[in-house]
Amino acid sequence: MAADGGSLEGRKFISREEFLPFFRPDVSETEIEAVAEVLRSGWLTYGAKVREFGAACADYLQVDQAVPVSSCTAGLHLALEALGIGPGDEVILPALTFVSTLSAVIHRGATPVLADIDPVTLCVDPAACADLITPRTRLLMPVDMGGHPCGMDALRDLAARHDLRIVRDAAHSFGAREHGRRVGSGCDATVFSFYATKCITTGDGGLVACDAADLAERIARLALHGMDGNAWQRYGDKGRWYYEILEPGWKYHLGDPAAALGLGQLARADEFMARRTEIARRYSEVLADLPGVTTPQVAAGMISAWHLYLLRVDPEIVPGGRDQLIADLTANRIGSSVHFIPLHHHPAFGELATAYGDRLPETERYFRSAVSLPLFPAMSDQDADDVIEVVRASILAAVG
Ligand SMILES: *Cc1c(COP(=O)(O)O)cnc(C)c1O
Repeated sequence: MAADGGSLEGRKFISREEFLPFFRPDVSETEIEAVAEVLRSGWLTYGAKVREFGAACADYLQVDQAVPVSSCTAGLHLALEALGIGPGDEVILPALTFVSTLSAVIHRGATPVLADIDPVTLCVDPAACADLITPRTRLLMPVDMGGHPCGMDALRDLAARHDLRIVRDAAHSFGAREHGRRVGSGCDATVFSFYATKCITTGDGGLVACDAADLAERIARLALHGMDGNAWQRYGDKGRWYYEILEPGWKYHLGDPAAALGLGQLARADEFMARRTEIARRYSEVLADLPGVTTPQVAAGMISAWHLYLLRVDPEIVPGGRDQLIADLTANRIGSSVHFIPLHHHPAFGELATAYGDRLPETERYFRSAVSLPLFPAMSDQDADDVIEVVRASILAAVG
């Protein structure tokens, strides 16, 4: 069998004409009109809309400081830069994440240290992090896997004991809550993604929320070439041509057309999340009883944003495992995905495979069983029931 399971034959269980994608963004006519208005305005880059969007996000997240950026990847990079993470520093992150978490560390010249996950939450295991701490450890980078909050209490205790900083990769968890509070505060920086498939979208985009005003200010400056605060206005009626570069930065800011879309999406964030939660419940109600199948769990005190529905199919119980299930979903015109290929499996990170290949048993076990089912607000109940029927039929056919 190919490593990616691509050679398996799918079996047809239902008749669906229209392909159900793994994800389709929900962009309203009102949002399209808001973007068009910006395009007609003549101001197409960083400007008043981005500032309005940043303030609206801060309000939604109940945080003081929120800086819109061009992507979560850019935001992670800036957060590490602004915190002074660099060569000689060790950064602990889960092996189960998208490459962005790791590339931020590598591009800063710091040393990535891969930790195993908690098999229930699928987020980084605080006990595993504790075991990996050395005198050179400077930073923890937990990930809210699938939208499930990573459990900051234990990580904050650890950080306090060892004088560590925390940058949270919250690409999945815009709107999630931990002990009543929205994800976005309680650590040095929380970085969200507004990529097309995420909880809300600006096409491409992201946001860095910070507890400290000076850190947020530095991140905002680094995102805009290192310019002084008012330089963005230099082409407007209130601007003037003179500006100063206070330090070399990057071009990582958001633009007004994207921010206009973001403002519309933000107004619907709770509605989107409620619908994703409803679909996830519908899935779990039926799928939880299937043999060899584990449905995603939500720990006490947590409210997941339900960015992803992370199903597990145990290949020791279900012959063919998730590979057969994915082939069956495809044969029945249903999209799916796998989140994530662990970092050390990628050809670019061979040294990580050598160092950590046999030290991440929960990550490996999860990866072998993982399949993400379609989950987006515009799905109908019938779409969800089609997914349920194919999963049910596939698993029951496999276990005989
Ligand atoms: C999507 C994602 C990112 C990157 O987000 P972009 O906005 O596309 O840069 C980072 N981390 C995780 C865990 C993600 O899923």
